[in-house]
Amino acid sequence: MPYSVTLIPGDGVGPEITDATLAVLDATGIAFAWDRQAAGATSIERRGEALPNPVLESIRATQVALKGPLETPVGGGYRSVNVSLRKEFDLYANLRPVRSIIPFRSYADLDLIMVRENTQGLYAGVEHFVQIGSDPHAVAESVAINTREGCHRIIRFAFDYAVQHGRQKVTLVHKANILRMVSGLFLEEGRALAREYAGKVACDEKIIDNAAMQLVMRPEQFDVIVTTNMFGDILSDEMAGLVGGLGLAPSANIGSRAAIFEAVHGTAPDIAGKGVANPTALIMSAAMMLEHLGELEAGRRVREAVIATIRDDGVRTGDIGGTASTKEFTRAVTARVK
Ligand code: NAD
Repeated sequence: MPYSVTLIPGDGVGPEITDATLAVLDATGIAFAWDRQAAGATSIERRGEALPNPVLESIRATQVALKGPLETPVGGGYRSVNVSLRKEFDLYANLRPVRSIIPFRSYADLDLIMVRENTQGLYAGVEHFVQIGSDPHAVAESVAINTREGCHRIIRFAFDYAVQHGRQKVTLVHKANILRMVSGLFLEEGRALAREYAGKVACDEKIIDNAAMQLVMRPEQFDVIVTTNMFGDILSDEMAGLVGGLGLAPSANIGSRAAIFEAVHGTAPDIAGKGVANPTALIMSAAMMLEHLGELEAGRRVREAVIATIRDDGVRTGDIGGTASTKEFTRAVTARVK
């Protein structure tokens, strides 16, 4: 039986890296029944809405999606489809592994995991303007919402991940010195869970600004990082930058009702349509999807093929110092998978 999976190629470089990823998945010999759906700017063009019902119905049915990046208008327009999908399917855990494939700057052998809370905090979508006099935007207010249950389940996810994957330490990243309630609650739950896992997984804590600096200075001191939504969003791009950039950073959005696999990066409008995008991040996200589906051997084969293509064969796209086009890189990975 083929796996039924929702496929959202996305905007910008999305269709190019999706084609590449499908070719690599095809080479594994695992059969998929793809339910192809449009969302984001592509869907606005076709249907006038960014997140049409068929997309939601499809994910409800398949419970698994592979998704390209979706454009979000900056400072207005429609609400982020990514945020809406995470809320709709309660995809509370955003798992972002960051691994060195080739030495980059002074970093050669990093292997870090970011576990980011995906549905709460400042991204809860509770915000408004307040009018004063004739200025309708005189004041802007955004409310950060963290619940005890939300903090508990994301931190438990991080500790369980550490136990299952033989990781040594979980670092709680917070700003409880200033945001005493909204970040304090996260830290309070983290400390309680650290006691529960004592003897199995070590735990330490860092204030977000120090964590950002320590990641640059001594990233090897980290193992699994768990943090709230916005801190995780920013830190994971920083972490991607330690290993060569966004072109290499995969992610999984996991909830109890569905899982969506996507690259960390966005639509890369500056290189879209040029055939030069690095598809590694989406291919590695697809490897995570294979593992989620229980296809551990195929997932490992895809991951190792990508690493060998970049590291041993020296076939690299422009963002990591090579000259290969998206198609050339894909052909090399596909040959390795086969
Ligand atoms: P971006 O990630 O699209 O691009 C940042 C930089 O990284 C650019 O220079 C780009 O060329 C480069 N880059 C990204 N992916 C690459 C790849 N695969 N290969 C080579 N280089 C790559 O970030 P941005 O420009 O801030 O955002 C553009 C759009 O994407 C915005 O509309 C934003 O909202 C959206 N976005 C979507 C997602 C998502 O769908 N999950 C995530 C982030 C941003």
